[in-house]
Amino acid sequence: MPDQTLLLFDVGGTDVKAAVSINGELTRITRRPVRAVTGDQAGRALVDQLSDLAADLLPSETPAAVGLLSPGVVDVSSRRTVFAANLGLRNAALPDLLQERLGAPVGFGHDVALAAQAEYSEGVGAGGADSVLAVVIGTGIAATSFVNGTRLEVPGAGELGHVPVPGGGTCACGATGCLETVASAAAIARAYEEATGRRVNGAAGVLEALRRGDPDARAAWQAAVDALAFALHWSVGLLGVSRVIVGGGLSGAGDDLLNPLRAALERRLSFMPVPELVLARLGGDAGLRGARIVALQELEAQK
Ligand SMILES: [Zn+2]
Repeated sequence: MPDQTLLLFDVGGTDVKAAVSINGELTRITRRPVRAVTGDQAGRALVDQLSDLAADLLPSETPAAVGLLSPGVVDVSSRRTVFAANLGLRNAALPDLLQERLGAPVGFGHDVALAAQAEYSEGVGAGGADSVLAVVIGTGIAATSFVNGTRLEVPGAGELGHVPVPGGGTCACGATGCLETVASAAAIARAYEEATGRRVNGAAGVLEALRRGDPDARAAWQAAVDALAFALHWSVGLLGVSRVIVGGGLSGAGDDLLNPLRAALERRLSFMPVPELVLARLGGDAGLRGARIVALQELEAQK
């Protein structure tokens, strides 16, 4: 769809990323911390901030459509953010409020799901697989499933970080044993610090130590890999996943993550085929590319 100006927002737990898309190219990419407001006004305050960003990025033009992604539990059919803990949002009708404010149609989706959709349709792709899982491993862990070319779109789906694994600890979500408590980037750093009493610069610091041959770093890393393999085993058994797209901060480890993960899956999966593991390609812009997808869908729906 050429010559159309789209305004894109990828709202995360702490930052808003915004951009303008012209002829499919992202320009004026901007990142701002979310203004903290709690209580009933959290949704309106966020929409105020998005309107200010819109005025900065497109001062003299109304976009053809807007794409808006929200974190948390998102219900696309009722166009609401049901719950987003970090933003204080409960049952917030963000796209409709924004639409009223900007006078342009607003397409709406979930941040992780649409980033995965962009990776699936414009990034590393399905590679011919019928069942694909896109896993994002960063501060937390989330996953998006694609079966026969269609993304599974159910509010709350994809909470892979909160399924139990052996060795899992107490989780911020209130449960015990969650994958995130062992295999998130934060958990890897924490496990290393607890084992050694030494401060480390996040999972990247553990990876550096691992590459130097530090046995404690190897133990923390391998515990994360084993927990991930345990959770992925379920996805293979349940959905026949034959390709896993790995994104998020931890995917920066590249083969240092994929090779041991592949080996751990090979040890676990007796007769089921070991899925192909590939790294995500779009990086930090995947969310904005996903916002562009929902903006274009909204334009299409208005026809
Ligand atoms: Zn949990």
